[in-house]
Amino acid sequence: YFLDLVEELQFDLEKEKVTIQYHCKIHTPAFVRVDVIQMKRVVVNIIENAVKYTNKTEGIIDIILEENKKQVQIEIKDTGQGIPREALPFIFDRFYRADPSRNALTGGSGLGLAIAKKIIEEHGGTMWAESKEGIGTSIFFTLKRS
Ligand code: ATP
Ligand code: MG
Repeated sequence: YFLDLVEELQFDLEKEKVTIQYHCKIHTPAFVRVDVIQMKRVVVNIIENAVKYTNKTEGIIDIILEENKKQVQIEIKDTGQGIPREALPFIFDRFYRADPSRNALTGGSGLGLAIAKKIIEEHGGTMWAESKEGIGTSIFFTLKRS
């Protein structure tokens, strides 16, 4: 199902200058029990950010799936503007937007990641971010294997 989701999004993104690359490092079937509608919202919110905060004409979004015994880890990595180190601890807070002056043009309410993180936590998972300004951002989340 994850591939279907990515394919659907890739279609939506054709007008945008962003390519999605999918890397599945899971070799045995890994099942996770999720609310599909909610999970779609999580992925859409993250990818929406990856597109919105990429100024380059040829951005790349890598979606990387990995697993261990207990959980599946999903990384959504972009080549966008990145998040300043001092802003990184706050991006999952409701209504927080890093650098409002620079982001004034893009618009948004600062809720996307707060909602995504809440959904993942309701599924028993965790969500975090790594980012380097000018290089890009990775949003990670985990889901328990069922
Ligand atoms: P909304 O999603 O509600 O429309 P938003 O995108 O501003 O608004 P979030 O999705 O919660 O809100 O993101 C919070 C802030 O984190 C953003 O305003 C932006 O500063 C920063 N951010 C999030 N994702 C990225 C990313 N992929 N690259 C750079 N900055 C990001
Ligand atoms: Mg957002």
